[in-house]
Amino acid sequence: MADLALPDAADVLVKVTAADERIRVLVVRCTGVVNEAQRRHQTSPLASVALGRALAGGLLLSAALMKDQGRLTIRVVGKGPLGGILVDAGHDGSVRGYVAHPDLDLPLTEGGLLDVGQAVGRNGFMYVTHDSGEATYTGVVELVSGELGDDFTHYLAHSEQIPAAVSLGTQISGEGEVDVAGGLLVQLLPGAGDEIAWRLEQNVKAMPPFSHLARAGADPYDIALSALGGFNATLVSRQEVRFHCQCSEERVHRALASLGSAELRAMIAEDGKAEVRCHFCNLHYQISAEQLGALAASLVGPGDDDVT
Ligand SMILES: [Zn+2]
Repeated sequence: MADLALPDAADVLVKVTAADERIRVLVVRCTGVVNEAQRRHQTSPLASVALGRALAGGLLLSAALMKDQGRLTIRVVGKGPLGGILVDAGHDGSVRGYVAHPDLDLPLTEGGLLDVGQAVGRNGFMYVTHDSGEATYTGVVELVSGELGDDFTHYLAHSEQIPAAVSLGTQISGEGEVDVAGGLLVQLLPGAGDEIAWRLEQNVKAMPPFSHLARAGADPYDIALSALGGFNATLVSRQEVRFHCQCSEERVHRALASLGSAELRAMIAEDGKAEVRCHFCNLHYQISAEQLGALAASLVGPGDDDVT
């Protein structure tokens, strides 16, 4: 249900339909999400922009593709020095993610921009795994530019047969902070004829980039309307989005337990403890020798066969 009471500057995803539900526009503003990702992973400006685009794209695709529940995992595996991006986004508006080399820095492009295409690499693949809670499947496409917006558009067209355009923007301030982050996804729904497609394309071509509009203070709904000039638009939903990781001490203990009691006892003997880092949120979990011992003891019982 639409929550229209969110504060103006909150991280939100709005869903708007137009032309008798033959067009759908999703706009996400996730500046807080990307700031949080930058703080947790200590990403350089270049890595922040790449990760920011991937987080925004993950939220947009998840809202576009998943029904009432479920999550998408997006893996961008390019040959560039950034070394890969992983994002996990849910229909509930939660998202988390990381890049392999968060401190990467490269020369600016000739136009003075952070060179995301070079960082990600123009050769490689984008994998998108849908997890509905009941079944999973993965779609894959080759990267077309490594700039990510084009790559998400290409993914939707070629792996999902969805005619859409994805535009992403993350802007970093002179102090290296995330000024604005987000993006939009404009999609033609079944029944949209050539004329609607043509008019929508002209609108989108004439729009300033997302980050310009967002920096000027435009609300996500206003940004959706600027893509929909000349069409009757209806706000379907306005949902909060947030950086959220599902990791917990309990999950870490479960993962350790899966190693078996012999491995746990070896850890106690060698290090006297274990340290586990969650890649998604960079939280470090310290597990003491006593906790490892208790875990190992809980695994040894009648019929236990992990002692070789
Ligand atoms: Zn975590």
